[in-house]
Amino acid sequence: MDFSYTEEDEAFRRELVEWLDDELPKFLAEWSDETSDGTESDDEAGVGSGGVMDQMERRRAWQRKLNEGRWAAISWPEVHGGRDATVTQNVIYSETMARYRTPGIYNANGLWQIGPMIIRWGTEEQQAMWVDNILNADDHWCQGFSEPEAGSDLANLRTVAVRDGDDYVLNGRKIWTSSAHIAKWGLFLVRTDTDAIAEGRKHEGITALIIDLEIPGVTITPIRDIAGEEMFCEVLFEDARVPVGYRLGGEGEGWLVAMGTLGSERVGTAGLAVGMRADLDAMVNLARSVNPGALDDPGLRERIADAHTRIEYTKLLNYRALSKILKQEKNWPEVPLAKLQWSYLAQTLAELAVDLLGPSALAAKGAPDAIDGGAWNRLYVFQRYTSIGAGTTEVQKNIIADKAIKMPRA
Ligand SMILES: Cc1cc2nc3c(=O)[nH]c(=O)nc-3n(C[C@H](O)[C@H](O)[C@H](O)COP(=O)(O)OP(=O)(O)OC[C@H]3O[C@@H](n4cnc5c(N)ncnc54)[C@H](O)[C@@H]3O)c2cc1C
Repeated sequence: MDFSYTEEDEAFRRELVEWLDDELPKFLAEWSDETSDGTESDDEAGVGSGGVMDQMERRRAWQRKLNEGRWAAISWPEVHGGRDATVTQNVIYSETMARYRTPGIYNANGLWQIGPMIIRWGTEEQQAMWVDNILNADDHWCQGFSEPEAGSDLANLRTVAVRDGDDYVLNGRKIWTSSAHIAKWGLFLVRTDTDAIAEGRKHEGITALIIDLEIPGVTITPIRDIAGEEMFCEVLFEDARVPVGYRLGGEGEGWLVAMGTLGSERVGTAGLAVGMRADLDAMVNLARSVNPGALDDPGLRERIADAHTRIEYTKLLNYRALSKILKQEKNWPEVPLAKLQWSYLAQTLAELAVDLLGPSALAAKGAPDAIDGGAWNRLYVFQRYTSIGAGTTEVQKNIIADKAIKMPRA
């Protein structure tokens, strides 16, 4: 780890902190009572069935507030409403937002993944149609890659798009598409070369399409998850017609577009350690009032110390990745390691929370004894997803074994 913040970085931090000091309290005062059950959950799982529209309206308002200050999409080019932020400024931004525990945004997929791809691959017409829409939270966006037979092995995707005049005609099935039921638009990967899989070149013949999810032939069915919420969906295409003009990149270039999209997804871990440290402090503080005896338990004390140490380690891992980027060295081993740390810590903290807070922490939403409206119970079950989403634990370990340790293959 070897870097220091420049005067520009510090000015950037000051500007952000001043803006948050001004705007965040006003926003929270205005919106604090707007959620249906009085609780707040700002990860993607908050997009559940109950109170979803209230929560999404709050997120929309926050994203618009951020956009007014040009803080919604800092990595985007200035001409598109961003700040051309450097990698270091992105780290400062993520850490500061985590420290202030800012509300969730309306279009995380759109701002972090799909918007940058439209800016990178889209025609001027496409940019004019969609970039501001994403930035200003006009519509919600989702990302439809996974299929029943294409998850970790994404290139095995089989949703077919056949060219017919100025349209593609789509047939197939996507699954686990987060928030598709509230999205107007989605970036989808489809197969335009149907021979590619059989001919052993499955990464070819994939095309990226932006799809209006309200067209005929698209059926979206929410799937109930382990937390009892309906956050992700099955998306069925039956002769759905999508204009060729909605294609992002060339026909068959979808893999390139997708890799850029997933690459953007992996940049956002910098604020993680700060957020997790705040979570740990919050649960210890809460234990003092709801289950104080737990804090004398040697086993639990050791787990708190262990979590604290690992959070610090994660912070250093992120800084090491940043210093490598600044020295133009490859930082890739830190990327799968950070993903593993994230999922491990998210689950460890959720398990620690229910043990620290006592039996009432396991009571679900609606139960008379539930603490914080059942939020800890929900967190406990929901965090299982962190070892699946954004690349499963096993796949990350394969990458580390192959590329970092260079373990021999049989
Ligand atoms: C909460 C949540 C939200 C999601 N949102 C979206 C979304 O918005 N859009 C979207 O497109 N997808 C989304 N997904 C899907 C996600 O990307 C996939 O679940 C993920 O890629 C894994 O694919 P799979 O579920 O098909 O599991 P599989 O790939 O079938 O894996 C099953 C098991 O086999 C293991 N495995 C697979 N391959 C290997 C290997 N080579 N070596 C060792 N072990 C292996 C895996 O680690 C896993 O344990 C979401 C998933 C979750 C849980």
